[in-house]
Amino acid sequence: STQRTPKPKWLRVKLPTGKKYTELRGVVDKYNLHTICTSGSCPNMGECWGEGTATFMILGNICTRSCGFCGVKTGRPETVDWDEPEKVARSIKLMKIKHAVITSVDRDDLKDMGSIIWAETVKAIRRMSPETTLETLIPDFQGVERNINRIIEANPEIVSHNMETVRRLTREVRIQAKYDRSLAVLKYLKEQGINRTKSGIMLGLGEKEEEVIQTLKDLKEAKLDVVTIGQYLQPSKQHLPVKEFITPEQFKKYETIGLELGFRHVESGALVRSSYKAWKHLT
Ligand code: SF4
Ligand code: SF4
Repeated sequence: STQRTPKPKWLRVKLPTGKKYTELRGVVDKYNLHTICTSGSCPNMGECWGEGTATFMILGNICTRSCGFCGVKTGRPETVDWDEPEKVARSIKLMKIKHAVITSVDRDDLKDMGSIIWAETVKAIRRMSPETTLETLIPDFQGVERNINRIIEANPEIVSHNMETVRRLTREVRIQAKYDRSLAVLKYLKEQGINRTKSGIMLGLGEKEEEVIQTLKDLKEAKLDVVTIGQYLQPSKQHLPVKEFITPEQFKKYETIGLELGFRHVESGALVRSSYKAWKHLT
């Protein structure tokens, strides 16, 4: 059927509020700043912005990949904007961000896959806001170490890369990605001395409980520190359908299993996004 399943009540969210949120919203509107939080109308804005955390996307708005769950446009990307690192750093300074999450589209079209802009962005933020801590939510860079090393050398506090789903569904959910390659990237980051590594998965795409648990085990094997588990929501009718709304009890169960496996932090809940409560993952 083409009918969409109605959202259960735990997915209904309040509009963001709070003094800090209102203040930041003013700055963002005044300078026309670009955050993922606002462009994706994220339900957690009140909370994240209240804590001084926001997410920024670099390397343009058009992705070379076409993951079945993702709302980002696919196509031929824009030319690289070499001023982008400075622009993002300026936004972070204007917003007085305490902990920034940086992410990007995938740039399989570029020889360096965008890793130079990535490193320059981290450096520009360090220069302008030395107190600001950083999480870089990176692509797989097709597993090419030369590119991943640029991120490692820039030394962000947290490096994350999302598995997004269980092994069996990876082909359907992230067509150009590979489950084992993503795991290998995470493991490599940790082995090269990244202090905190992190990954996220979305549920509700048809995965089974034992597959989720296996993914958690695989991530533990890759020496991961932090895992986030959230509900998949369909960005449009052209995207993969939601197969199931996971109950709060089931999210809690995964959280317990994750903590038993020994992850440092497990965020598990319907509204969890990979950058949700990101500031907590520094410890
Ligand atoms: Fe922004 Fe991420 Fe927080 Fe949403 S969860 S408000 S995108 S930092
Ligand atoms: Fe979206 Fe990232 Fe997939 Fe590109 S690679 S389509 S930005 S999830």
